[in-house]
Amino acid sequence: MKPRVLVVEDERALVTMLRYNLEKAGFAVAEAFDGEEALLRVAEWKPDVVLLDWMLPLVSGLEICRRLRRSREARALPILFLTARSEEMDRVRGLDTGADDYVTKPFSPSELVARLKALIRRSQSGAGADRLLCADVAIDLAQHRVTRGHRRVHLGPTEFRLLSHLMRHKGRVFSREQLLDAVWGDDCEVEARTVDVHIRRLRKALNEGGASDIVRTVRSAGYAIDEPERAIPG
Ligand code: CA
Repeated sequence: MKPRVLVVEDERALVTMLRYNLEKAGFAVAEAFDGEEALLRVAEWKPDVVLLDWMLPLVSGLEICRRLRRSREARALPILFLTARSEEMDRVRGLDTGADDYVTKPFSPSELVARLKALIRRSQSGAGADRLLCADVAIDLAQHRVTRGHRRVHLGPTEFRLLSHLMRHKGRVFSREQLLDAVWGDDCEVEARTVDVHIRRLRKALNEGGASDIVRTVRSAGYAIDEPERAIPG
């Protein structure tokens, strides 16, 4: 069965170009030209991945993304943002939009196809809809539970959001300011140092009993969580 991609974009010419390239690459394509239509199409057509423009009439791409993430069926649906400018890209990256990836216009169709395929692969091979995994740390997003191996890890709400954000974007380094935006929200008055305090609490809870540290401090840059290299047997 062909993978289904829903293209949400109001520029008709771009939609035509996208449809042509995506169908050529083996996708089934559906279109939505505004946010309301996008939400309907997701519910009815059940795409495998959504290609979502940032700038849309009626309901913004950001708002669609948030609504999808709040809904039960689409909570884990892979979303790739299309952004026109670097400020939009910064916002997608910095905010906890729940987007899985983003591409800046103008983009090469083959790059876009590769990213979409990677997202679908990741979502289908992964640990299931509501779980994030990294090494032996697992987050159950639906139940708000974190475990490490068989041990339950008790986190405060801020540490939980911090860990979810870092694990949703494994391998990516976030500055303190980006984490403040993503975890504390846009208009918070918190100092950057606060992030360090919560990272410390997070580490303490995760590493209880001498488990290895999965949070990486990047000097003068920020923090990341990395998937440990898989040991190759034999
Ligand atoms: Ca647009």
